[in-house]
Amino acid sequence: MNKETLCLHSGYTPKNGEPQALPIYQSTTYRYGSVQELADLFDLKANTHMYSRISNPTVAAIEEKIAALEGGVGALCTSSGQAATMISIMNILKCGDHIVSAASIYGGTMNLLSVTFKRFGIDVSFVSSDATEEEIQSKIRPNTKVMFGETITNPTITVFDIEKFAKIAHANNIPLIVDNTFATPILCNPIKFGADIVIHSTTKYIDGHAQTVGGVIVDSGNFDWEKSGKFEEMCVPDDSYHGLIYTKAFGTSAYIVKARVQLMRDLGCYQSAQNAFLINNGLETLPLRMKKYCENAQQVANFLQNHPKVESINYPTLDSNKDKPLAEKYLADGASGVISFNVKGGREAGERFIDSLKLTSICVHVSDIRSVVLHPASSTHRQLSEQQLTEAGISAGLIRYSVGLENIQDIISDLTQALENV
Ligand SMILES: *Cc1c(COP(=O)(O)O)cnc(C)c1O
Repeated sequence: MNKETLCLHSGYTPKNGEPQALPIYQSTTYRYGSVQELADLFDLKANTHMYSRISNPTVAAIEEKIAALEGGVGALCTSSGQAATMISIMNILKCGDHIVSAASIYGGTMNLLSVTFKRFGIDVSFVSSDATEEEIQSKIRPNTKVMFGETITNPTITVFDIEKFAKIAHANNIPLIVDNTFATPILCNPIKFGADIVIHSTTKYIDGHAQTVGGVIVDSGNFDWEKSGKFEEMCVPDDSYHGLIYTKAFGTSAYIVKARVQLMRDLGCYQSAQNAFLINNGLETLPLRMKKYCENAQQVANFLQNHPKVESINYPTLDSNKDKPLAEKYLADGASGVISFNVKGGREAGERFIDSLKLTSICVHVSDIRSVVLHPASSTHRQLSEQQLTEAGISAGLIRYSVGLENIQDIISDLTQALENV
């Protein structure tokens, strides 16, 4: 099936007389007829539901749908995008390990990797995604266990060269995790370009309606944990499951099964059935919405590019953009609805522009159906020093504009009047 069809029909297939819409299974627990049947579940011999901290039929439906859309062997939903990033890394790293990450990433991920993981004894090195292969390779240490990047970076809107990083990761026997939030599975499938694990904040375009926080981890099934020789916990007996060995018991799904039955069991940040239902509503219309976001954003980008008060603009499909060749390769169907730009006059002018907008709302959010705007240097990236801001590619006046689905003329009128005020 093609993506539009998968969005409507995968994950849940009602039989005769069953509900056409995905039901919300509002139940914490599941009933069994004998002690042995439940015991088999605890030994992971049976693949059914036990407790809604670990799995739930409504959530399972969207896990199957997202795995199908990304071309993975399985998926695990989480209570937020942050929880997806955390579990995707903690599933394979431990105290003493090291991460190599692209320098331009979401502010929350930046904090997780460089502040909280540091307290757990996990170290991180950042590298510009424009760096040469030699420069990137030089960041890799014997204890480096993963590489990390974002398909379209939040908030700088640059395009990550997935193949370049995947090649280096694989030459060093480590996996590449790609945060595909802004591109969504509709505009890019990182697994096709060599990513081993894909994560999303479903809070953004996938939900799309600013209603539910959520995340998901998708396993490509392609990384060979045994052959790599670096991921003992994947290949040695797990005492908490009577000595089960994930790679032996679950083959190519070892990573995603371990993430669920071990880390989700212990950390407990699973998605709820109610929220999964709302996320599914978002998924059903995602291909249609992504097309419209890309169309509207292209028009806004063209408008801003030619405006005398705009100093610079990042939107990957513009001819003037340094990432245009990467966008042609990785984002052939469009570069989503998020644009970043600077108005002439730096921070002060940027703030004045934002305060002058009328239709567009100031929100700590992107990828909504409504147009929203944010000033990263005073909000999401407020805690970074001037030097860290520069390294992350965020100038003091940078504006992140998330183009919504309003009529394009109304969006452009709002931008026009706000720029007149600068
Ligand atoms: C928002 C976001 C996250 C974090 O997701 P939450 O659902 O807010 O926890 C991670 N990565 C990217 C690229 C994001 O935009």
